[in-house]
Amino acid sequence: CGIVGYVGSKPALDVVMNGLRRLEYRGYDSAGVAVVSEGKLATRKRAGKLANLEAALGEQPLPASSTGMGHTRWATHGAPNDRNAHPHLDDTGSVAVIHNGIIENFATLRAELEARGHELVSETDTEVVAHLLADEFDGQQEDGGEADLAEALRRVCSRLDGAFTLVATHGSAPDVVVAARRNSPLVVGRGDGENFLASDVAAFIEYTRNAVEVADGQVVELRPEGITMTDFDGNEVQPKEYHVDWDA
Ligand code: GLU
Repeated sequence: CGIVGYVGSKPALDVVMNGLRRLEYRGYDSAGVAVVSEGKLATRKRAGKLANLEAALGEQPLPASSTGMGHTRWATHGAPNDRNAHPHLDDTGSVAVIHNGIIENFATLRAELEARGHELVSETDTEVVAHLLADEFDGQQEDGGEADLAEALRRVCSRLDGAFTLVATHGSAPDVVVAARRNSPLVVGRGDGENFLASDVAAFIEYTRNAVEVADGQVVELRPEGITMTDFDGNEVQPKEYHVDWDA
């Protein structure tokens, strides 16, 4: 339902929670966040209102971080409980994924992952993406190359049927947030030494009004110093910038 991502120098959790509050009016049944800190992912997620997530964060604070993302869920597959809330992780907890939309072929992908020994713990269509992404990323590292999360996401997207906005972070990629969209909204906000993404500009206009359009079938890589956009085949595309001058 609602999606927010951030890389920069501010405390990511504050930016992400402010963004989720701005998207609350859309309705949701659960909420969660992930941050990357010292080579590791940390997540909190709770069924119910953002207040429940805030309480959980108060009891068990996340480490300070300047890379993070958050989600408010409107359940389509799996009950609205803590476990099915996003972000979803792979077995090793190295990849976190949030998702709007529906992965139509998730049952086939899940069976394939389970046959390869993956253990899935939720009832969502989303969780398969975290496992597929971890496999792609690890495969790149085994090939000796520097693993590229955006490339891993492009490969995973080519296997997905359905509509989605996907956002992912990896514990070994401290200043990177990647995202992809197909028939589901995603917009990027350009800052100064920081960048934002969200399902709606309302999530970040308190920080920047310089927006970048993400067209359908594109993948974006957000770093503090820049934004790289490609199509699903990896061809670089020129960002289309616009200024948000209305009050969202
Ligand atoms: N299909 C996903 C789920 O049920 C995402 C729902 C959403 O768009 O919030 O978890």
